Amino acid sequence: MIVAKFGGTSVGDAAAIARTAAIIRGRLDRQPMVVVSALAGTTNRLIEIAEHSAKGELIVALAILEELRTRHFDTVTELLGGHETHDEVAAEVGAMFDELAHLAEALSVLGHLTNRSHDAVAAMGERLSAPIVTAAMQRAGLPAVFVDARLVMLTSEDYGRAEPLADDIAAACRAQLAPLVREGKVPVLGGYIGATRGGVTTTLGRGGSDFSASLFGAAMEAEAIEIWTDVDGMLTADPRVVPDARLIGHIRFDEAAELANFGAKVLHPSTITPAVKRGIPVFVFNSRRPEGTGTRITFDAPRTPVRAIAGKTRTVVVKIRSPRMLATPGALRKIFEVFEKNRTSVDVVATSEVSVSVTLDDDQHIDAVVGQLAAFGDVSVERHRGIVALVGAGLGESTETMARALTALGDLRLHMVSLSATGINLTLIVDGDTVHEAMRRLHAAFFNGAA
Ligand code: ASP
Ligand code: MG
Repeated sequence: MIVAKFGGTSVGDAAAIARTAAIIRGRLDRQPMVVVSALAGTTNRLIEIAEHSAKGELIVALAILEELRTRHFDTVTELLGGHETHDEVAAEVGAMFDELAHLAEALSVLGHLTNRSHDAVAAMGERLSAPIVTAAMQRAGLPAVFVDARLVMLTSEDYGRAEPLADDIAAACRAQLAPLVREGKVPVLGGYIGATRGGVTTTLGRGGSDFSASLFGAAMEAEAIEIWTDVDGMLTADPRVVPDARLIGHIRFDEAAELANFGAKVLHPSTITPAVKRGIPVFVFNSRRPEGTGTRITFDAPRTPVRAIAGKTRTVVVKIRSPRMLATPGALRKIFEVFEKNRTSVDVVATSEVSVSVTLDDDQHIDAVVGQLAAFGDVSVERHRGIVALVGAGLGESTETMARALTALGDLRLHMVSLSATGINLTLIVDGDTVHEAMRRLHAAFFNGAA
């Protein structure tokens, strides 16, 4: 069996939901189960409803609620108009909006938003989308069956970002989903939402539907997990920077994780860990172009020196020069403690006998950091730097890559170089305003003509 997850844009309106049904029809022989997000943008709007209500701005909250109600009813009419299931689904949707209005009123009376009530409101998006998608699939002749995710996605009571209870989930999936799949049915569930053992609604945190799909896939011992979204897959570089970036057919999990650090937003690798750990491949596909080949993410894609090129333009470098101190044991620890105390995470580190240079993504607490580091030596701050990274699990094994990368940079100024110990990331610190040019040069050097 497989788990097919459809993100918000893949169920954003009636046309998208119809495409989703067609994709599942083409996969019936693989025994799919379906996980859906809320209709695109819905969760944000729901959270606004919760926040306005708790601030006593009930009128604003209810106006947003009406907008969402209209959108959901319109989608139901477009998908099910004239069909026997229309009235039943419309009644269910109506009841959920009534429940949401009661929640909003209660919050406005309380004047206070807890994580628990936040989840009750935020979960509405997937509680609505899953039965709508199910009915649309049934109308399209598919053997779809709605299953309330809260019966199987059992979690801790950490509202807002609940921890999944893997054993309970596996048992519930075996009892409630496996028999349906064996009968040839297609279970359809909302992602992102779950419930405590006591039945109180929880959520897994924003963007949690990929995590749901991965957890269900692991519990069901799926052959594959498909993440259907609105891009073709993961690319060799950000196409806004490198116009001839190309699709990555197969990528290793650790490479995908490394790229996520650089803001590759297709999918957050931590959310697919439960599946990848069990050796289940995860695919990313475009629901607008289902004929595409997508990106396959596994633990063991063949190693290659450079899988992708990434960059960030706003990096700060802090240098500490201290001839005497750096030779003494424990010096680095004391320096790093300063960053830790100021909740500033360090990215790249380079040391010499007399100096340490580190890069920071976030310069929020930089003044405090610099003030405290001054006790150890001369501190200087270089703003307007940027990072370009080559990511590939075979980097460390390739003798030629480094030379080729430095040659490709040409006349661009290089400030620091670091090859990660795991040999997966070659990081180059350049001037911030040359990051994009550096990415293009490196991409040309490593990918052009290599297709
Ligand atoms: N609807 C949820 C969110 O927007 C979960 C998801 O789409 O992954 O965060
Ligand atoms: Mg998402």
